[in-house]
Amino acid sequence: MAKMMIEDEADFVIIGTGAGGATAARVLAAAGLSVVMLEEGPQLRTDERPRELLPAMQQSMRDFGTFTTRGAHPFPLLQGRMVGGSTAINSGIIWRLPEDVRLDWIDRFGLDELVEEKGLERAFDVIEKELDVVETDEQIQGNNARKMAEAARALGLPGRAIHRNSRKCEGRGECLQGCALEARQSMDVSYIPKAIGDGARLHAMCQASRVLIEGGRAVGVEGWVLDRDTRKNLGRFRVRARRAVIVAASVIWTPVLLRRSGLSGLVGDRLQLHPGSAVVARFPEPITMGVGATQAYEIPMRDRGFKIESLTLPPEMLATRLPGAGPAWQQMLTELDHYAQWAGLIRMRAHGTVRPAFGQHDADVRYTPGERDLRTMREALALICRMMFTVGATEVFPGIARLPQVLRHISEVDLIEQADIKQSDLHMMASHLFGTAVAGRDSATSVVGPDLQCHDVRDLYVMDASVFPTNLGVNPQHSIMAVVFRAAERLANSQAIAA
Ligand SMILES: Cc1cc2nc3c(=O)[nH]c(=O)nc-3n(C[C@H](O)[C@H](O)[C@H](O)COP(=O)(O)OP(=O)(O)OC[C@H]3O[C@@H](n4cnc5c(N)ncnc54)[C@H](O)[C@@H]3O)c2cc1C
Ligand code: SF4
Repeated sequence: MAKMMIEDEADFVIIGTGAGGATAARVLAAAGLSVVMLEEGPQLRTDERPRELLPAMQQSMRDFGTFTTRGAHPFPLLQGRMVGGSTAINSGIIWRLPEDVRLDWIDRFGLDELVEEKGLERAFDVIEKELDVVETDEQIQGNNARKMAEAARALGLPGRAIHRNSRKCEGRGECLQGCALEARQSMDVSYIPKAIGDGARLHAMCQASRVLIEGGRAVGVEGWVLDRDTRKNLGRFRVRARRAVIVAASVIWTPVLLRRSGLSGLVGDRLQLHPGSAVVARFPEPITMGVGATQAYEIPMRDRGFKIESLTLPPEMLATRLPGAGPAWQQMLTELDHYAQWAGLIRMRAHGTVRPAFGQHDADVRYTPGERDLRTMREALALICRMMFTVGATEVFPGIARLPQVLRHISEVDLIEQADIKQSDLHMMASHLFGTAVAGRDSATSVVGPDLQCHDVRDLYVMDASVFPTNLGVNPQHSIMAVVFRAAERLANSQAIAA
């Protein structure tokens, strides 16, 4: 029997240190409230994070990047699992909440106060200033992005340099491994140190297993202390919350925790995603993907339900995207410098579910794209192939089963446009996740109210992407932070009034 190792107490106990949890900690600690942050992953100093891809993935990603949906056609859901959450491995792409989404949330879900225009704008302004948000400079875009810009101009597409939270980026293309320069302002190098500077305490390698609920209100959190290398249980922790518990463990793990703590109803429903798939192409001239920002150029096509982004891959990952075997494949490996990769992300309409699975901290995630979602994916991938040929690609690898592995002429893109593409034909993944503890005024159709407090349990808040009632069609980090910033500020103000 493992013995209790950690006990603590604070006004607010926050589970998870990603975009949502770190922002909540930043706001509450700055307001002078005492905060304890719990994080199941390790706290890694930047100089401890490996530059090589595989050790980096092992240290900072959930299940080494192999966590998948279940069912007939599983696909990976990428998430960070370290202090900083998914922000510690992301590309720092910054988008404000689109206005049509904001109005939809007000009309259909009654979230007027949460996304009130002026208040939300102020939160975006503060975050952009604090996290060094700028447009990616042409000088560090790299050829992967420059080629995409050339294609956008040639085809009259609405392309633009990506805005990122990385003012001092030198274009080293290693965001997934953590920015060695600390240019990218992920939570582990920005809001978490700031919250700690304001008095918050952090317990890393502490995996929450249950929110403690007494008399209908949340009073603390308990769980396992994990070994940093083996992830075996070392003991237990229990943290009392004097004022509230904030769950910010992400769209997958927040509903698992809430259900394991006795909540039910809609918890875990309405999972929404932006699944993505990438196309690789060979160009006669060197592209040299490793030089340039990880993601630097984008073509938002929100009216058509997708977005295209340049995406640098480390060579070992790029090699796995090239088809074939034997001497022809080996020849491709000698020319890795000539390949570019662009991804299409789809604002899918399908809804899925998340439920706790057998095991200490495991989830059963079900998600099946609809027919229309698959048609949108087909449209995005076909457009990317066309763009690549338009700017001189000699070979394009669409990565779609039952179609040729290599296209050598633009006319062959018709094959994609005419294909009846099934989910099983695609190599999809998703890293933009939404829903599963959705916010809304009506407790019959939502899990938390406009203040992000659970309808069914007092002093239990959810402050991560789980509360989003819909997906966005743009990259989510900034919207998560701004929504949480507002909710946490209102929570801090209400505490000051109550005190
Ligand atoms: C590879 C990648 C690239 C991306 N690129 C971008 C981008 O460029 N721009 C953008 O806007 N978005 C990007 N995203 C998405 C963005 O990072 C996420 O949407 C955002 O970080 C989600 O915030 P969150 O707070 O909901 O969850 P997360 O940031 O995932 O944080 C959740 C945290 O909770 C912890 N946790 C889970 N369970 C427990 C538990 N039981 N106990 C304690 N801790 C727990 C996790 O370890 C994790 O640290 C990317 C994501 C990935 C994976
Ligand atoms: S591209 Fe490189 S230098 Fe730029 S933010 Fe990412 S890791 Fe840092």
